[in-house]
Amino acid sequence: MTILKESKQLDAGLYFVATPIGSARDITLRALDILYSADLLIAEDTRSLKKLMDIHQIPVRRRKIISYHDHNGERKRPLILKEIENGKSISYCSEAGSPLIADPGFQLGREIVKAGHKVFSVPGACALIAALTVSGLPTNQFFYAGFLPTTKNMRIKFLENLKEIPSTIVFYESPKRVNKSISDMLEVMGPDRSVVIARELTKKFEEIIRTTLEDVQLELRNRVIKGEIVILLGKENESELNTANLKELLLIEFREHTLKDSVANISVKTGINRSKVYKTALELVKEAKIPESSSIS
Ligand code: SAM
Repeated sequence: MTILKESKQLDAGLYFVATPIGSARDITLRALDILYSADLLIAEDTRSLKKLMDIHQIPVRRRKIISYHDHNGERKRPLILKEIENGKSISYCSEAGSPLIADPGFQLGREIVKAGHKVFSVPGACALIAALTVSGLPTNQFFYAGFLPTTKNMRIKFLENLKEIPSTIVFYESPKRVNKSISDMLEVMGPDRSVVIARELTKKFEEIIRTTLEDVQLELRNRVIKGEIVILLGKENESELNTANLKELLLIEFREHTLKDSVANISVKTGINRSKVYKTALELVKEAKIPESSSIS
């Protein structure tokens, strides 16, 4: 690992720095550089940031770690803006993962952009992306729905609005409410909808449950789910992505790849098995939308 020995002069502005969602080593080298060099450190939870910096041996030196969260944001934003106007580089970390994603930072970023100053992304861990990658559900399109509302009526309305979305849907949820949410999902989306629960990602008790809403409800009756969770829903009949869509995807992929690679890529991206994608590709050849010469060997 490259550890900085002296701080670099950073451009003035706000750096949104992603931090790990479990495993402390899931932090980028650039994130460590920014934490080492920023003039001012801001955190949703100052103790968590201090702990992370200790793990990675980044000294706070004489810098201040200032707290910024939903409850003091209005008061703190003008002060932060002033520091940037004075040419300071400021790093902002939320408690875990990517700032702004179900975490504070949106208003801060918006006001800084509006004032004509620079905002930089220092990307890294994000639970929704980590969950998608291990879900086995299609990732070519997804809808991030954030946290579900806490009351039943609101939850049902919220889910009704999402019902027709033709892509994987990702929710953050508290383990305390998971049973209620699953039961409302079942009511709105039906028993056969694919569901994935990604629990404690990157941590010791990581677990991925891949099943249907009906089956997961039965499973949850017999156990208590603990820790942090992401719930993902497959789209309706997700394993039966309709042929028209599949043809469209293949034609787009074919613009830059051979037919053989297009089939392989689309199969990986959609989770649809290769022979079905291959069959659809042959239909496109028959329809003369793809030249016969590019047939797959
Ligand atoms: N900013 C974070 C991100 O980039 O993912 C999200 C912060 S939000 C306050 C916390 C929620 O993210 C948790 O309730 C859970 O739904 C999800 N989450 C965070 N860490 C997780 C993990 N290690 N495994 C599963 N879900 C996680």
